[in-house]
Amino acid sequence: MVRTVKERIVTEVQTRPTDATLEDSSLQEFRARMRGEVLTPGAAGYDEARRIWNGMINRKPAVIARCTGAADVIAAVNFARDNELEIAVRGGGHSLPGQSVCDGGMMIDLSPLTGVRVDPVKRTVRAGGGCLWGAIDHEAAAFGLATVGGTVSHTGIGGLSLGGGFGWLARKYGLVVDNLVSVDIVTADGRLLTASADENPDLFWAVRGGGGNFGVVTSFEYRAHEVGPIVVGGLALFPAERATEILRAFRDIMATAPDELTLAAVYMSAPPAPFVPQEAVGAPVLGIAACYAGSVEDGQRAMEPVRALHPMVDLIGPIPYGALQTIIDKANPHFIQYYNKGHYLSDLSDEVIDTFVAQAAGKTAPMSYMLLWPFRGAVARSVGGDTAMGFRDTAYILVLISAWLDPAESERHVQWTRDVWTALQPFATGAIYVNDLNDEGPNQVMTAYEPAAFQRLIDVKTKYDPANIFHMNQNIKPRSAQNGS
Ligand SMILES: Cc1cc2nc3c(=O)[nH]c(=O)nc-3n(C[C@H](O)[C@H](O)[C@H](O)COP(=O)(O)OP(=O)(O)OC[C@H]3O[C@@H](n4cnc5c(N)ncnc54)[C@H](O)[C@@H]3O)c2cc1C
Repeated sequence: MVRTVKERIVTEVQTRPTDATLEDSSLQEFRARMRGEVLTPGAAGYDEARRIWNGMINRKPAVIARCTGAADVIAAVNFARDNELEIAVRGGGHSLPGQSVCDGGMMIDLSPLTGVRVDPVKRTVRAGGGCLWGAIDHEAAAFGLATVGGTVSHTGIGGLSLGGGFGWLARKYGLVVDNLVSVDIVTADGRLLTASADENPDLFWAVRGGGGNFGVVTSFEYRAHEVGPIVVGGLALFPAERATEILRAFRDIMATAPDELTLAAVYMSAPPAPFVPQEAVGAPVLGIAACYAGSVEDGQRAMEPVRALHPMVDLIGPIPYGALQTIIDKANPHFIQYYNKGHYLSDLSDEVIDTFVAQAAGKTAPMSYMLLWPFRGAVARSVGGDTAMGFRDTAYILVLISAWLDPAESERHVQWTRDVWTALQPFATGAIYVNDLNDEGPNQVMTAYEPAAFQRLIDVKTKYDPANIFHMNQNIKPRSAQNGS
């Protein structure tokens, strides 16, 4: 019996609300074209598949296409486009505003696409579009290699790579986008293209920072580097009363630090971990997280200025790079409530530090944190050539993450994050990392790009996705939909 299913598709995040009617017969045809599962509401596994990292997001796609390869992605893009289903693409599912899942429409779920292949001779790593960083770190480490990647191993390579991507190795080897060699990408017309310096170079330029606007990346190829396997890294904790002094020292160390050294400052609450003195558990602390991407001897020397500050907890020492990549995993658990904001900073003046510390004192939830991450080094030198990811003179990226358990408390924690963001805004450059954008307003995506790059991104969007079918992202609209920009 043919049954008609009416799905109301509401775009919460971006543009066009549409109606779509899906015949069971056409769904059946679609299923037959897919190797991966096709899940609809009520199916076993549907609720798990639609869930993403941020527990605040609770959306119900009409269809979830669990893609096992490029063929499935092509089938899914064609089906969604032809049936006017809104498309959300899920990589690792760590988009804080929830752009990897839609209400109604189709979630193109790449989480089965997790193969990793290391070429130790060419020193490259190729990984499926739904991979998490932990998989890449694991495979590359077997050959004494690592790619520049994110700092939490359960984050997806998809959204992070397409947005720019910073991590422990960025000051030494550049951002993730500076280390991209090529991508395979399914575009709006259902073609699989390779984008690299030699093939479709306009698209290659755009995907290195332009987010998921141009298609579904089925595989990423990265340059890898000899790292470790043992590096010097870890975490030192200081009581919050010393936050101003430690932040000034942190700034001064980073002002002359070699590219190998990355220190990040994080204002947080001391976790209930065995290494934290009982009396300090839950108390606010200023953490200095560290990595030296060079020899252990040089790394130990580079950490001396941090040790000279006499941390109350000192866990900085020799550690396998892959283990360092997981040390903050547990501080970012799945499925609790999250809200975020971010700024780029051109320096860390005493005034910025004073404002940061004053705002930190009002932190409303133990799991919330404020992170200052340094750029410069190879990031500033754009070692990967011309990419869409600009603002390379940024000195620090400020990341504000609120995290709490009870949805009933959301207003208070969200408000604190917004207040801190507003208080620090006068010191910020005005530009924002695309993966930190949340609810800055209708033109927020423009703040992530330099003006000329933004115009170029519009041109590439217009060429590869003129109907803007990929809009569940920090959306760059095609020229026809721009209002005089
Ligand atoms: C715990 C945590 C730690 C983080 N640490 C870092 C960090 O160290 N460095 C850093 O730079 N950022 C970091 N971020 C930010 C991170 O870059 C973004 O959240 C990013 O979007 C996550 O990618 P994802 O694939 O997991 O997300 P998803 O939610 O799956 O996707 C995010 C966006 O990218 C699109 N997308 C994802 N995969 C693909 C693909 N294969 N093809 C096309 N579009 C795709 C989606 O459609 C969506 O618009 C962190 C975020 C979290 C939550």
